[in-house]
Amino acid sequence: PISATLIDGKAFAADLRARIATQVRSMKDNGITPGLAVVLVGEDPASQVYVKSKGRMTREVGMNSYEHRLPAETSQDDLLALIGRLNDDPDVNGILVQLPLPPHMDEAAVINAIDPAKDVDGFHILNVGRLATGQKAMVPCTPLGCLMLLRDRLGSLSGKNALVIGRSNIVGKPMAQLLLRDSATVTVAHSRTANLPDLCRQADIVVAAVGRANFVQGDWIKPGATVIDVGINRGDDGLVGDVDFDAAARVAGAITPVPGGVGPMTIACLLANTLTATARANGLPDPQ
Ligand code: NDP
Repeated sequence: PISATLIDGKAFAADLRARIATQVRSMKDNGITPGLAVVLVGEDPASQVYVKSKGRMTREVGMNSYEHRLPAETSQDDLLALIGRLNDDPDVNGILVQLPLPPHMDEAAVINAIDPAKDVDGFHILNVGRLATGQKAMVPCTPLGCLMLLRDRLGSLSGKNALVIGRSNIVGKPMAQLLLRDSATVTVAHSRTANLPDLCRQADIVVAAVGRANFVQGDWIKPGATVIDVGINRGDDGLVGDVDFDAAARVAGAITPVPGGVGPMTIACLLANTLTATARANGLPDPQ
């Protein structure tokens, strides 16, 4: 039997998008239409799906979506030139370069060419540094979505033991920074971590961003813990997370499903970041 509360990221994200749409309408009343440019290089099938749904949801909340699809053999200089034009374009408030880039490109050089004020993915080194030092930053979308779900469920995170499994630049590390900013006591685990099950058993909050299906076992979960499953693994029977959901849901206090948990939050947070970037570019207060 499932005793844990299901954290409905799909509903939370729909609600967030509705609030964003309201704020976009009032910006438009004042002559400002937020614009998000998404750049896709090459034909990676998963990336094409992401870019398509990002464009659709951008338009759904009333923002302008500018999609730039470039062939896989595009030179890095041509990509940098496009980013330069988008940086200078006042109608573009957010720029997202879909990763991964083709192997002939230097991902860091491309990301760091984006105007940090328009870096709605929060991957520019200035935004990474600002987050780490407690300054106003653009925060990466997936961990920002996880944080929103955690705050909604738990209220204050202060003093909670939080375990982040995974140390990638796009999920694990920024997740750890956000939890630390909220005064959780944060442990970051990775492939060299010793005694991961024991560490996990002490955690009030577990964020799993590993990329291995059903990796986190039910008997690693502290009774009542809040479990956020970031994993998206394509298996024989559809999408599965990084947590053994059926077992963990018998022990946890609350848990995100896959799909329908963290996934929908990521695009909603991208739109939230675009709204924030637009507000800042126009000297308006940050949207709530
Ligand atoms: P990465 O592959 O970049 O990072 C995986 C991390 O897991 C690494 O830090 C790795 O450790 C760690 N790891 C691997 N094996 C183990 C192990 N046996 N024990 C402990 N740690 C281990 O993945 P991402 O961070 O990019 O993504 C993680 C998952 O989240 C994926 O399933 C991805 O699809 C999903 N994802 C979902 C998003 C969403 O919108 N919901 C957005 C982004 C990602 P080490 O550093 O030592 O190698």
